[in-house]
Amino acid sequence: MPVRAVSLDLDDTLWPVMPALIEAEHCVDRWLKEHHPEVANAWPIEAMRELREQVARDHTHLSHDFSEQRRLTIRHAFAACGIDDAPVDELWRIYFAARNNVELYPDSLPALNRIVERVPIVAISNGNADLEVIGLHHLFHTRLNAAGVGVAKPDKRIFLAAADALGVAPEDVLHVGDDPLLDVVGAREAGMRTVWLNRHGETWSHGPAPDLEFADMMSLADWIEASTVADS
Ligand SMILES: [Mg+2]
Repeated sequence: MPVRAVSLDLDDTLWPVMPALIEAEHCVDRWLKEHHPEVANAWPIEAMRELREQVARDHTHLSHDFSEQRRLTIRHAFAACGIDDAPVDELWRIYFAARNNVELYPDSLPALNRIVERVPIVAISNGNADLEVIGLHHLFHTRLNAAGVGVAKPDKRIFLAAADALGVAPEDVLHVGDDPLLDVVGAREAGMRTVWLNRHGETWSHGPAPDLEFADMMSLADWIEASTVADS
């Protein structure tokens, strides 16, 4: 049966996320050095990263909300330097802008433009990418993230929320993502069909294979065009 919709992971599926995350950390560090050098000295990038990991471990109820984890990290870093009114909003804006300054894989935009001609696309991300800031929001029927839904992939509830938003059954949705556990295993648990976007030629070693495996988004667009009928 042809798929009726595509649900799509974002980070490392449409763009490599690490360059943006690293640049975002540097932007925060530069701002701290200029405005709060004592905090910058106490929390160089590596220490700030470890602090965030500690915050995540200490606040497991925020495991679906990376944004709140980062805001809490800023508060902790400033409090450790004796500053109670941390400039959380300012630093969050700086981080968020850089985090969304992503460079798409060259196949992503042309493939999205082809896919959306055939089926609606919903975004499902555990991260805090903002498709409006990135400029892709017009291609998406619905945008879901873990912070908004309240659970993160691989919890099947976030996938079911996507099918619900599309008004289709989970088995009519093809979920596409790079992460074997978060995307493929999670979506399968929810009853969706699965695509592993394997951009780096890795070997599948996570139990039952995904329904489909592609090396890039254009191959996915080819498959969707071959298996769906265009609206006339
Ligand atoms: Mg991903």
